[in-house]
Amino acid sequence: MLESPEIDKGEREPELSDNTKIEWTDATWNPVRGCTKITPGCAHCYAETFAERFRGVPGHPYEQGFDLRMVPHKLLDPLRWTRPRMVFVNSMSDLFHMGVPDDYVG
Ligand code: SF4
Repeated sequence: MLESPEIDKGEREPELSDNTKIEWTDATWNPVRGCTKITPGCAHCYAETFAERFRGVPGHPYEQGFDLRMVPHKLLDPLRWTRPRMVFVNSMSDLFHMGVPDDYVG
C-alpha cells in the first residue's frame, strides 16, 4: 500500500527549467516530484539518483529526496509562460503514479 504523498508548500525553484540538458526538449516542469520503483526498468532511474543527492538539503526542491509528493504551487506555472516551447512534464516523476490523485492530474 502506498503512503500518502507529501505536499510541498513551496520552496526556491524556478517556475520552469529552461536550462535543461535533455536534448529533445526545451524545458522541464515538475508539478509532481518523486516516484516508486516498480519494474526492473527502474533499477537505474536517473531521476532517483539526482533527487537523492539533495535529500536533507534544506530548501532544495529535492530536500525529501525521491519521495513522492505533489507540488501544487507549480500547477499554475503554464499560465505565466509567455512563449511556446517543448516542455517535458514531470521529468522527475511519473504523472500517472498510483499515489497521484486523479483530480490533481485533471
Ligand atoms: S521515474 Fe520512471 S524509472 Fe524512475 S522509478 Fe519512476 S517509473 Fe521508474
